[in-house]
This record gives sequence, C-alpha cells and structure tokens, in this order.
Amino acid sequence: MDTLQIILVVAALVVVAGLGWYLANRRSSVVESTTPAPTPRTQTGRSGLAGRLTETSRSLGGALRGVFGRGTLDGEFWDGMEEALIGADVGVVASADVVRRVREGRPQDTDEARALLRRNLHEEMTDRDRRLVLGDTKPSIVMVVGVNGAGKTTSIAKLAKLLQTHGKEPLLGAADTFRAAADAQLRTWGERLGADVIGGQEGADPAAVAFDALQAARSRGRDIVIVDTAGRLHSKHNLMAELTKIRRVLERDSDPVDEVLLVLDATAGQNGIAQVEEFARAVGVTGIVLTKLDGTARGGVVVAVERTLGVPVKFIGIGEGIDDLIEFDPAEFVDALLADA
Ligand code: GDP
Repeated sequence: MDTLQIILVVAALVVVAGLGWYLANRRSSVVESTTPAPTPRTQTGRSGLAGRLTETSRSLGGALRGVFGRGTLDGEFWDGMEEALIGADVGVVASADVVRRVREGRPQDTDEARALLRRNLHEEMTDRDRRLVLGDTKPSIVMVVGVNGAGKTTSIAKLAKLLQTHGKEPLLGAADTFRAAADAQLRTWGERLGADVIGGQEGADPAAVAFDALQAARSRGRDIVIVDTAGRLHSKHNLMAELTKIRRVLERDSDPVDEVLLVLDATAGQNGIAQVEEFARAVGVTGIVLTKLDGTARGGVVVAVERTLGVPVKFIGIGEGIDDLIEFDPAEFVDALLADA
C-alpha cells in the first residue's frame, strides 16, 4: 500500500467515524427532545397551587379587591363580599354563613375583614378526615364512580401514580364494560405506569370483571385494586343497581370496600352536584375527587360539594398531566383562592 492509499484509507476511516459520531449524537438529541418537558407548576410566575387555580383566584380576587377597596365596612361591603363568594360557586347558603361569621368577628378594618374571611373559609372545610382509607387487609379496594367525562379514568391513573410514589403497588380493574374506549384508555395508562389492568369483553358483566380484578390483585400480591365503573347507563336506576351490584360482589368474601370515590367535574359547578347527589348517596360514596379546578373560576364549589353531599373532598385535579392530582389541603386551598384578594 503506497502513502496515497494509506492517506485515503485513514481519511475514509475519519469520515466514517465522524458520521457515526454525528448520527449517535443526533439520535440522542432526538430522544431528549421527545421527552415531555415537566408540566410547569405556574402560569403566572406564582408557584404551587395558586399558580394552578388562576381562574378562580383572579376572578374571586378581582371581586374581593373591589370590595376591600371601598375601605368602609358598610352594608355594600358585606353584600359585595357575599356576591364575590357566590360568584366563585361557594353556594348561596354557605356564602351567607361565611359572611355572617366574618361580621360576627367584628373586624375594625378591611385587613381584619380579609383575615377573618380567610379563617372562616378555612373553618368551613376543617374537621373532616381527608385521608385515603386503605384498611389493613391487602389488597385494599377502591371503587371509583362518576358520570362520563368527569375525569374518572384520568383520575384513576393519577391516583395510581400517587400511590406508586408512596411505594404502593396498585392494580386497575376496567369494569366499565359498556364503553370499549374506557377499557382501552385504562390499559394505555396501565402500560405507562407499569400497573396491571384487568378488563373484560365489551358488554361483559361489570361486577364479574371487578371481581376478577380483585382476585388478580390478591394472587399477585398487589396492595390496592382500583375499580373503574360505568358513568352512564340507560337510566340512573340501572346505573345505581349496577354500582351496588359491583360493590356487593367485591364484598362477597367479606372484605369491605375501603373507599368509594366520586369523581366530580368542578367546571360543572352546582349543576354537577345536583346530577350526582342521588347516586352518591345510593352507592355510599366515602370521598370526592374534584377535577378540573385548573379550568374554572368557580373553585369555591369545594365548599358547596362538601356541604351538599356531606362527604370530604380527598383529592383535587389541577391539570391533565399524570402528576396533577393532589391531596386536598384546605389551608393551602384557601390561600390559593385568596391569593389575589
Ligand atoms: P371519564 O369519562 O370520566 O373517564 O373522563 P376522562 O378521564 O376520560 O377525562 C375527560 C377529560 O377531562 C380528559 O380530556 C382529561 O384529560 C380531562 N381531565 C381530567 N381531569 C382533569 C383536570 O384535573 N384538569 C383538566 N384540565 N382536565 C382534566
């Protein structure tokens, strides 16, 4: 091989190596760029929950700022406060009660009135046990109910993720066999989370699917089985009968269902509550998951929900991402609601 040939071979090797290096690096940057960026926790530069409840805190804050800006604690001041709360969907009766209690605190100026409002709104939501009850027997059983579109399936996935971060292994049961899409949606989430999903054919008996899921969770040693259920049937009566049957079958081996979580869309406000009141009572709901609080100016509906249904809000949905379900903390929530006031 003469010198020229050696130079050509070396040059070719350099080109091939360079090309290889370029392709490898191009590949890794593509992988990086397709990795979803973490969901921003703020939209307005504010951190935490206040950054997610912007619509409510802006409109409630705006209304209250107008009221506090009056400076005098006269009749119009109190009417304005009550209207602002009603506007945030706190509910007519609850808003009147809160304002009455603030007045009874005899604030001397608007700052004191603001502080009393914060305290009374908070007190509206204390004294409730908001922990997820998981019982002692493994697997714990969590049934999830709610009308279609409320965010049931998404919330189940988020809850499963939350439990995983607490070191629990959930198994998901797709007992809404009336909609093929519900099964598929839950399976997709299950794959992403690395959680098993037990479902059935479209039209299969939902209670049998729920029972299969429970058995699978038992035999696989999972900590919790979370059962998705139908959100709509031919009639409300049929839906309630179906949900009651699922519960009965799950409890056949004498282990009680630990939680029946009702998923409720906050954007539906008071109308949403009226829609589910009857069946919430019939199936023995133990906790509420209030979704889409990030997309409504009516975040005060938390108060109305608890008053009407008499059941604690345990989790709130504040976005579409898998991490956007948080345990409900009244103090943090009231601070977020009044962040702009
Ligand atoms: P299901 O019919 O009750 O199972 O409802 P899905 O889980 O399919 O949710 C319906 C829609 O609501 C989907 O587009 C979800 O991404 C959306 N969603 C659920 N929870 C939230 C939330 O907390 N915030 C927002 N912005 N969207 C949500």
